Amino acid sequence: MACTFFSHAVPEVVECHGERFRLFLDAATIQRRVAELGQEISRDYAGKRPILIGVLNGAFVFLADLIRAITIDCEVDFLKLSSYGAEKVSSGQVYELKKIDADIRNRHVLVVEDIVDTGLSMQFMLERLKAHEPASLATVALLHKAEATRVEVPLDYVGFRIPNQFVIGYGLDYGQLARNFSSIYVLEN
Ligand code: 5GP
Repeated sequence: MACTFFSHAVPEVVECHGERFRLFLDAATIQRRVAELGQEISRDYAGKRPILIGVLNGAFVFLADLIRAITIDCEVDFLKLSSYGAEKVSSGQVYELKKIDADIRNRHVLVVEDIVDTGLSMQFMLERLKAHEPASLATVALLHKAEATRVEVPLDYVGFRIPNQFVIGYGLDYGQLARNFSSIYVLEN
C-alpha cells in the first residue's frame, strides 16, 4: 500500500509514498476551528448571501465542512489550479485548469483555500476574480505558512498559522494520496 497507518483510531504516524509523517492537527482540533470560522463568516456576512469559491483539489474537504458550519444562506462554486503534482515544494508556476461557472459580478465572494504557502496561487486567483467586479472579495485559508511568503496576500480568515513544513491530510495530498485523512500530518525530518 502506498499509504500505511501504523495504528488504529487516530494514528500518530503514517507512511505515504515511502515517507513518514507524524500527527500535527487532529480531527477534533480542526473541526473546532472550522466551526469558529463558520460562525465568524456567518456573523460578518449576515444578509449578504456570499458565494464561497473553493480551490480544487485540496480545498474540497475544508469547504465541505466550512459550509456546514455556516448558518446563513450561501452558495458554492469551484475553480481549479495546477498543484504541486508529486513534489513537496512549490514550483512557483500557477495555471488555471478550471474556471468558475457562477456569475460573481456584484456578489460577495470568499475564496477558500486549504493552504497558503508562497501566496502565488492566492495572488493569481484574486487578480482573476477582481476582473469580474465582485461587490467584495475576501479570503479564507485553513492553513497559512507565513514563513514561506513570496507575495503578500490579504488573508481575512485563517484557521491555523503553521511552520514552513510539508503537510498532508484533510484534503491535502502527497502524490494524490492522503486527502481522505481526517487529521493533518507533517513530514518527519
Ligand atoms: P502557494 O501558491 O501559496 O505556494 O501554494 C498553494 C498551493 O500549494 C496549495 O493550494 C496546495 O495545493 C499546495 N501546497 C502548499 N503547501 C502545501 C503543503 O504543505 N502540503 C500540500 N499537500 N500541498 C501544499
